[in-house]
Amino acid sequence: MGALLFALLVGLAIGSFLNVLIVRIPKGESVVFPPSHCPECGESLKWWHNVPLLSYLLLRGRCAYCRNPIGALYPVVEALTGLLYLVVALKTGLGMEWFVTATIFALLLALSLIDFKYYAVPDSLNLTALALALLEPLLRFLWDWGTGTLSDFDLYKKALLTRFADAAILAFAFWALGFVVKRLIKKEALGEADIIIAATMGAMMGFPLSLVAIYIAAVLAIVPAIFARGHMVPFVPFLALGTWIAWVFEPTIMSWWSRLYA
Ligand SMILES: [Zn+2]
Repeated sequence: MGALLFALLVGLAIGSFLNVLIVRIPKGESVVFPPSHCPECGESLKWWHNVPLLSYLLLRGRCAYCRNPIGALYPVVEALTGLLYLVVALKTGLGMEWFVTATIFALLLALSLIDFKYYAVPDSLNLTALALALLEPLLRFLWDWGTGTLSDFDLYKKALLTRFADAAILAFAFWALGFVVKRLIKKEALGEADIIIAATMGAMMGFPLSLVAIYIAAVLAIVPAIFARGHMVPFVPFLALGTWIAWVFEPTIMSWWSRLYA
């Protein structure tokens, strides 16, 4: 119970920072300077104006100085990120795997919201997620070494190599798919950002789970694509959602999969 509360609190704090990334990175602003300030009146926020969720509720969604409303997305992102770290902890327990996995999902959440608004995503966040997904076994090795819980060295090495291989295969498959679709509909279908996310998905989940995630993403994206009638539909949020669903429901999906080939 204490572990889950800890996971939730870490997630809320990271969600608060995620808001900073979502607002500032697309504008090319620094994420550390200047410190948090109200976008309306420019007044610097005190730490007690910046407590995730709590401050928003206590200030009733308004700036403490000028009383202009604060965007409702701030507490929503904080709450979602908190839940995200909690749900991942339920599956992995606390530790390096938990932190790395939840952080990748937090970055995918930030990328999704940025894609919704700008129809483009920053490489800095996208490549950070990929690096975390690729290097998770190495980080886990360092963590286990530091905490004296090291297991067989070959396991980490094998996990690391598998992640690189799966990332490369899925990125290539995605690139090839984009190439074919582009020939068919004479329009850019899958961008570079989608290919980077595909690599992240491959590294994180391997096969066949990453393919199931892409399938879920495609199915979820069909309805908005039909309604959009030629307007752009951001694909990153669907890839992120597909990844989340596949990762959370992995045991169910894998048991279906094994029955398919039984
Ligand atoms: Zn203000």
